[in-house]
Amino acid sequence: MDNKFVMAGVMGWPVTHSRSPVIHNHWIRQYGLNGTYGLFPVEPQNIDDAIRGLKALGLAGCNITIPHKVEAMKRMDWVDPLAQRMGAINTIVVQADGALHGYNNDGFGFIQSLRDDKPDWRADAGPITVLGAGGAARAIVLSLIDEGASEIRLINRTRVKADALAQEFGQVVTAYDWSERHDALAGCALLINTTNQGMHGQPDLDLQLDQLPTSALVADAIYIPLETALLAQARQRGNTGVNGLGMLLNQARPAFKAWFGVMPEITPELRQAIIATF
Ligand code: NAP
Repeated sequence: MDNKFVMAGVMGWPVTHSRSPVIHNHWIRQYGLNGTYGLFPVEPQNIDDAIRGLKALGLAGCNITIPHKVEAMKRMDWVDPLAQRMGAINTIVVQADGALHGYNNDGFGFIQSLRDDKPDWRADAGPITVLGAGGAARAIVLSLIDEGASEIRLINRTRVKADALAQEFGQVVTAYDWSERHDALAGCALLINTTNQGMHGQPDLDLQLDQLPTSALVADAIYIPLETALLAQARQRGNTGVNGLGMLLNQARPAFKAWFGVMPEITPELRQAIIATF
């Protein structure tokens, strides 16, 4: 067996809050691999040197988090077409010849998290409402389109950002005003919160669910807390809720596979290890 020591990590600024080391080091132990995953606090002015250093230091690659996701993409030798459309990367894989390949697994993580909770989930089951138009929304909306979504209602506090995404992504996506968010839920099969509202330290999302069918799935990208006020409200009226932990865990899987050679599984022990850090 090849017992090469494999190193990876996450570059961000700040980065100390990242749960990625807990996830990847858990899998390294679980699969008996020889390697480690570390934290790389990289200030924005040093991103160029840091990315160039990956090959020189012999790293298998790294995750890229805020604020480097867009800048890092510009420094890749090759970018996966999906990441290209997302306009940002969250994973770098150093190739055998030293070339840097960039990927974005956030959308995969989100879709997979829905399937983990509801294996028969389909993107074309009915209209989808997405709240927010930031980086997470971009990745999620593109993945929903690729999965065959037929209608996406995109609603953001700053309307022009929703308009810009709708224009870029084509006629499947229609932008609505923030004031229309309650009524936009009528007839929806899926509601997704990608705003920061409801996150620890932020106010709860101001949204009335009266119009949302109780058969609709409600997903929140937030994972701290695990049950946001939105998910609690949804559960109380009979909707199935999906929190953001599954997205976080699932986006890590293809990166781990690329660096360490094993497609890892999400076990109850891993979930517990992450929850213990909250
Ligand atoms: P972002 O690019 O900064 O976008 C933030 C979004 O929140 C924007 O649409 C913004 O609207 C909206 N927002 C901010 N304050 C608001 C308010 N007071 N009322 C209504 N909307 C408001 O951030 P992001 O990277 O997309 O992340 C968004 C959320 O997703 C965060 O909670 C993050 O933790 C979560 N996330 C989770 C995962 C995961 O793996 N589970 C991955 C990525 C992100 P404006 O355009 O009007 O400012």
